[in-house]
Amino acid sequence: MRIQSRNGEGLGALAASYFALALASTLAGLGEQHLLSVPVWGFGSIVLGMTGYALFWIGIRRLSSGKLRRMDWASLAIPAVAAVVALATQFHVTSYMRGSIGNGFAFASLTVSAACILRDGERERLPARILLAASIGLGGLLALMVVVGLLVPDVAPMTPIWAFFLRIMTQFAVALFVIILVTERTEAELRRVAETDMLTGIGNRRWFMSRMPRTMLAGNALLLIDLDFFKQVNDRFGHDAGDAVLVSFADAISRTMRPGDSFGRLGGEEFGVYLPKTTANEALMTAENLRKAAHDLVVACGGERISFTVSIGVAAVEESQTSLADLFKMADAALYAAKDSGRDRAVLFEPGIRAAA
Ligand code: GH3
Ligand code: MG
Ligand code: MG
Repeated sequence: MRIQSRNGEGLGALAASYFALALASTLAGLGEQHLLSVPVWGFGSIVLGMTGYALFWIGIRRLSSGKLRRMDWASLAIPAVAAVVALATQFHVTSYMRGSIGNGFAFASLTVSAACILRDGERERLPARILLAASIGLGGLLALMVVVGLLVPDVAPMTPIWAFFLRIMTQFAVALFVIILVTERTEAELRRVAETDMLTGIGNRRWFMSRMPRTMLAGNALLLIDLDFFKQVNDRFGHDAGDAVLVSFADAISRTMRPGDSFGRLGGEEFGVYLPKTTANEALMTAENLRKAAHDLVVACGGERISFTVSIGVAAVEESQTSLADLFKMADAALYAAKDSGRDRAVLFEPGIRAAA
């Protein structure tokens, strides 16, 4: 996953963490079968195990926040200090000391990792966060159970061996939810890119269409906005200036939208506004306000001050149901009429308007 991932997202540190933990477990396994001496496997498993949990915290922080934090690497000093202390005191030779220090550190690393994932969830809401934090938190509790089982066996609800076994099981769940989190994040990003207009940053036609019901009931309105003589803006001031006008216009109109309204770029210099729960008169008033806002907007670009106007076609669903395609046709006819009658105006669709236009 690290190789596939474009910017890492902490997956490298997490992979290294799992590798270190696997090596630590393998050493302990060899030790259990008396294939290695206690000072050797005990030292290897505590240092590698603690390194694994330091890397886990580094990886989860990065995965959760999406930011690279150099300071986090300092947590690798903890296993380094443990290694020096182990060499000086030989504490790792004593089973309960090695087990409680290693699992105590695992408890700390897992608990802060779970908290970090939940806290960052306020910024990036992804369902997998809850499951990932829960499985890491459960792993932390089980690590604590190992410590309690080693130090005060009488109050421990299970033996350290059972707690450690379950702890390994949670580690598989953690890996699974890390993969799901990364996938959810990628999908959310793909959806955002697919529905956003690159130039203006507002929703594109695909997004705009997805905001509208297929069959429109009475009390909904659609505005089609087209910039007037936009070709001339490009011809006079250059294409970049034209782009700047589109960006400023999109920005200004976005700020006037009510919650629930949708404003998108349908293509070129044409924009759409979907107004739910809006009567024909209210829609025409809104369109008139937007027209004025565009009229008053002055875009400064390359030393020039550019003014422009827009024409707006307004269509409202008044009585019976109207299909989305018909509503677009109505707004288009009204826009055509607005252009035809002099531009810089908003026109409400009425039956017969097409013939007049
Ligand atoms: P009208 O008042 O009849 O709408 O005149 P117009 O010049 O706006 O109409 P027309 O549709 O002929 O021209 C639209 C122009 O918009 C043509 C095209 O070069 C320009 N345009 C479309 N998309 C972009 C864009 O992303 N950036 C820039 N700078 N120009 C664009
Ligand atoms: Mg046009
Ligand atoms: Mg135009």
